[in-house]
Amino acid sequence: MTGRRKPQEAEERRCKAAAILVAGGSGTRMGGPKQFLPLAGKTVVEWSLKAFLDTPEVASIVLVLGPEDLLEHGPRLASERVRVVESGQTRMGSVRNGFAALPDQAEVVAVHDGARPLVTPEIIYKTLFEACHNGAAVAAVPVKDTLKEADPKDCWVEKTPPRERFWQAQTPQCYRRSILAEALSRFAAEKDATDESQLVERAGHRVKVVLAGYENLKITTPEDLIMAEALLEAREKMKHETRVGFGYDIHRLVEGRELWLAGTKLKHPKGLLGHSDGDAVLHAACDAVLGALGEGEIGIAFPPEDPSFKGIESRRIVASVLKKLVARGAEVVNLDVTIVSQEPKLRPHYGELKKSLAETFGLEASRVNVKAKSNEGLDAIGRGEALACHAVATLSLKV
Ligand code: MG
Repeated sequence: MTGRRKPQEAEERRCKAAAILVAGGSGTRMGGPKQFLPLAGKTVVEWSLKAFLDTPEVASIVLVLGPEDLLEHGPRLASERVRVVESGQTRMGSVRNGFAALPDQAEVVAVHDGARPLVTPEIIYKTLFEACHNGAAVAAVPVKDTLKEADPKDCWVEKTPPRERFWQAQTPQCYRRSILAEALSRFAAEKDATDESQLVERAGHRVKVVLAGYENLKITTPEDLIMAEALLEAREKMKHETRVGFGYDIHRLVEGRELWLAGTKLKHPKGLLGHSDGDAVLHAACDAVLGALGEGEIGIAFPPEDPSFKGIESRRIVASVLKKLVARGAEVVNLDVTIVSQEPKLRPHYGELKKSLAETFGLEASRVNVKAKSNEGLDAIGRGEALACHAVATLSLKV
């Protein structure tokens, strides 16, 4: 652990760090064990476990579960990297059981509370790194509120300690193996310590605080679960990137064809000539979406020379593009189209075109815009021989 992170060193470091994930509590303040409460599609403890599994430096994890949870969930959560053991009578007893199950190679040990599901690989790494260099380190955050010291009997304030010196200790708490071993054996009778750090401090070792994050909260009361859910959802959203795509299409306007635009039929003596129904708006919009996905253009999936697609409704082309979107975990944020048409005049149809385009793409109307320009009587469009459409799509894409 000498800096983050040269790939060739990762393997070597992985052998040196291990974690004890303590999840054997009874959860008296939640009316039952909190580790297996559902949280954003997993359970609380599985989010904690995931953060450690996502930290490549942690080669092995000992998950400490209560006897019933061990039977019910142990087999499912155990893996090559995760060993599951039974909890003790107290938190300290559970840490001792976890410590006894550590692999011999582990030189630095992270102890983490299973009920802190929002811990990140960055926090884990930072704290392990400090422990590796300084012996003992604790994830923590500076106290935000003003502190009051009050008489526990009558609640009269006795002191306002200077806030600047106070930190709230979280987990992970990380130690060189020898230091944690010494603290656990010297204070073997200790049952009530709320963290390991106080035993390490009492054994005479210096412990460093590592700035973690306020989001690394502990699920203790029901409102913590609501906050954790909101924070995890916000994190998921941040894993999206915005993409922009552009599309263009032009078709000849001819007698004897229906005029299809944006998925709806307009009354007009001419229609758009094409292999399909000629809907230049849907074609341009589809190309904009495919452009944002980096997936070419509609002619690749629906070649105009293929007779099986003759007369195809352009809504079918949209449906196939939407399938690609779903497969990529993407969604359209907005669609903006500009139709270039000398005739028909489209302003009276804006409402209808917008509604149809939104419905065809399965979007709220507020995410769609349709506008039109004449071509000032210039060129083929200006002479009423063709109609063109430009489209821009923005997508939100999972990365
Ligand atoms: Mg076309």
